[in-house]
Amino acid sequence: MDLGDLAMGLILARTGANILVVTTQHIDLAHPPLTALSEDERLFRDSVYEFATREVRPLVREMDEHAKFARPLLDKLFDLGIMGIEIPESFGGAGATFFHSVLAVEALARVDPSLSVLVDVQNTLVVNALLRWGSDDLKRRLLPRLASNAIGAYALSEAGSGSDAFALATRAAEQGGDWVLTGRKLWITNANEADIFIVFANVNPDDGYRGITAFIVERGAEGFSVGKKEDKLGIRASSTCELLFEGCRVPKASVLGEVGKGYKVAIETLNEGRIGIGAQMLGLADGALAHAIAYTKERKQFGHAVAEFQAVQHQIARAATDVAAARLLVYNAARLRDARQPFLTEAAMCKIFASEVAERVASLAVNLFGGNGFVKDYPVEKLFRDAKIGQIYEGTSNLQLQTIAKQILGS
Ligand SMILES: Cc1cc2nc3c(=O)[nH]c(=O)nc-3n(C[C@H](O)[C@H](O)[C@H](O)COP(=O)(O)OP(=O)(O)OC[C@H]3O[C@@H](n4cnc5c(N)ncnc54)[C@H](O)[C@@H]3O)c2cc1C
Repeated sequence: MDLGDLAMGLILARTGANILVVTTQHIDLAHPPLTALSEDERLFRDSVYEFATREVRPLVREMDEHAKFARPLLDKLFDLGIMGIEIPESFGGAGATFFHSVLAVEALARVDPSLSVLVDVQNTLVVNALLRWGSDDLKRRLLPRLASNAIGAYALSEAGSGSDAFALATRAAEQGGDWVLTGRKLWITNANEADIFIVFANVNPDDGYRGITAFIVERGAEGFSVGKKEDKLGIRASSTCELLFEGCRVPKASVLGEVGKGYKVAIETLNEGRIGIGAQMLGLADGALAHAIAYTKERKQFGHAVAEFQAVQHQIARAATDVAAARLLVYNAARLRDARQPFLTEAAMCKIFASEVAERVASLAVNLFGGNGFVKDYPVEKLFRDAKIGQIYEGTSNLQLQTIAKQILGS
């Protein structure tokens, strides 16, 4: 152990003679508590939350009602430096860690889970996949744009391929030195705003999942269009659309990773991406809890603030415990990922648990707001609607349980 990493702590102890003495003990700063943030992490998280409170909160209801982001807000995300968190500074990014992405997603979700998922997909899926699998040419061309003004989307799902993620019907065929994509994608987050799409297609269906290949397709590519936008229960401002590929020609250099290795790109980025969804659900739960605490301290019934009733205090205490446990799971998975340690089980656990906590805490918040919890003048009904998606996208809860069971049972 490096003595430079140790601090001296004062400990009060009782001797055998029952006399209080002060002893010293080494505290190992190399292994700080999971939730202890470095100065830099704390400043980063606080600045994102301050931005969310100042710039996003006033627009949340309107964006939800119109099912559309305010474009100037998206430009400000780039100014804030949270659209290319892990992109190296040499490409114009923040050069920070995956854990920073998780902090940004959490901080935004406390105010608006819709905007949070836009930032999440950009960082934990699109940028992440490019950093890991992109050729030097793709990185040079795309990373500076993603850090400064281009939004990304990640297109795997199709009508017949959801949980069974590799049953893709979208095909890619070689033609005149290019790849030509034909098929349809469904449920694609950021589709309306995105400039750069990572699209998975099968180049050789006879080879099953070993034919799956990841391609970069840019908005405006011939034969590519964004189709119907879904009208959703929650995260309504986030666009979720169909993508159509009708003989869409992309150059050979647009293959992300290797031909036939797209399944690896998909599996590995989604394993990391679901930590981001855990962070989104954690932020949502924390936001709902904060609203519930503020409201119950203010609202009076029977001559007392509602928060003075013990039944309510216990409900809030349980919710706070849930949020704290979700934070430990999410931060642990993210820190394992940054430390290059295995995190597959932890990522699945953090997503399933945080999404269940989000649903529970948002539901409690609606209850504690009484009638006001059921109307759009107050923020908790939206958080309640937004919570549901955490158990569906980037692998449903059943699929997370399957992953966890497979790891612990070794089956
Ligand atoms: C708002 C939204 C945004 C999305 N964004 C994206 C995106 O950006 N990119 C993208 O590629 N996709 C995206 N998706 C798609 C999402 O990942 C899928 O909807 C999800 O993986 C589930 O697939 P499915 O809808 O086909 O459900 P299905 O796979 O049909 O599942 C239906 C039910 O069956 C259960 N089930 C299925 N198989 C099993 C099994 N083997 N064992 C036990 N239970 C099982 C599921 O858990 C679920 O409860 C998005 C979806 C939504 C709703």
